[in-house]
Amino acid sequence: MIASPQPTAIFHRSLNKNYDTASGGDGVYIVHPDGSRTVDRSSGSAVSCLGHGHKGVIEAIVDQARKMAFAHTSFFTSDPAEELARLLIDESANAFTKVMFLSSGSEAVGSAIKITRQYHVSRGETKRVNFICRQYAYHGNTLGALSAGFNPPRRQTFEPLLSSAFHHVSPCFFSRDAKDGEDEKAYVNRLLQEYEDMFEKLGSSSVAAVLIETMGWATLGAVPAAKGYLMRLRQLCDKHGALLIYGEVMCGMGRAGTLHAWQSLGNAAPDLQTIGKGLGAGYQPISAILVGHKVHQVMQASQAQHPFVSGHTYQGHSIGCAAALATQQTIVKDDLLANVRAMGDLLEEELRKQVPNLKEIKGLGLFKAVEFATQPGNRIAADVASTCLANGAAVYLCSAAVDAILFAPPFIISEQEVHELVSIFAASTRQVLQEKKIMQ
Ligand SMILES: *Cc1c(COP(=O)(O)O)cnc(C)c1O
Repeated sequence: MIASPQPTAIFHRSLNKNYDTASGGDGVYIVHPDGSRTVDRSSGSAVSCLGHGHKGVIEAIVDQARKMAFAHTSFFTSDPAEELARLLIDESANAFTKVMFLSSGSEAVGSAIKITRQYHVSRGETKRVNFICRQYAYHGNTLGALSAGFNPPRRQTFEPLLSSAFHHVSPCFFSRDAKDGEDEKAYVNRLLQEYEDMFEKLGSSSVAAVLIETMGWATLGAVPAAKGYLMRLRQLCDKHGALLIYGEVMCGMGRAGTLHAWQSLGNAAPDLQTIGKGLGAGYQPISAILVGHKVHQVMQASQAQHPFVSGHTYQGHSIGCAAALATQQTIVKDDLLANVRAMGDLLEEELRKQVPNLKEIKGLGLFKAVEFATQPGNRIAADVASTCLANGAAVYLCSAAVDAILFAPPFIISEQEVHELVSIFAASTRQVLQEKKIMQ
């Protein structure tokens, strides 16, 4: 791997780091200008679900670019957008009736928040302005999405700019947060009581929605909702007239082994759902909001008095939709979700066998986090991630809240590649433990 030889003109994410150049992509590998390769075992950040260089997706992009690249969505629709929306609705077991396409996860979260507000205004419930979200959630980096999320280091500097309409309750993390002797049901009861208390504090008729990730990821490491949690939230929101919004930008679109992660977590459908990362597999920037019947019906009926005045230049971009359509068609045609489930099981089994110093493995499908059994002052995840990268495998580091690493490899990963990943990861972990003298 060679860092770019010229001084960069880019205002990079970090201004004091040299970035290696990714000049090619081939299956599960990122290729560097000198020909060396890195195993992309977290698919960037759970993005590249088909791996790199997928011919079908590339051809779909080129075809669409030749036919028609951009036509403004104020005036026009396009075939790939229509077809993709139809596919997503058809594959979602009647949970949704409409789809809006945007470019990033943060944009989708922002628009979902605005649709929620519009829905209530359309029904004459103009007092509904509050959103109940969760601590340690990640919903993106625009000011709206950052207000909804709760990741202290990301928020700190911008706190004075963030909206006070967002309120944060405890995350759902049974294996860590349950009290002694508290079973899953009692734990869920306690969390639901916290929501009830928040509704009461804010005034039940002032709450617009509950917005949560169905699986907490970056901050907590692929934590699935506890048993019964989503269904109880569904009932709570219905009782109080609030909408339920799921953030599945990372854990959705097949990553958990079902198209939507909530389908593996009790099957309680939301009113609105954001999706992103895996939707277009990284071939184009694309995200979406899946809109349930109830919300669509109200907004349709009041379209004349209460039009939804919001839009983005590149929403529903035809090339983005063409890439995502080819991606999703490939996943259906090749039955890749079956591979996600099978390889997810193998990954977990091999990690358990080979990785030293494990505390816990969490997650579903090919969305798994390894948490180390280390003392707070002696964390190793960051070192393991950089050692892994040096050994030729890119993994994703969870936030400071846990000593954990996230695995989100492409859906096309093979058995042999799973073995290769685990052996690099286990060797890197041993190396770090020895360097830190945690294990001889
Ligand atoms: C990545 C992510 C976002 C933000 O998406 P961007 O495309 O980075 O704006 C929002 N929500 C969740 C759950 C995410 O994982």
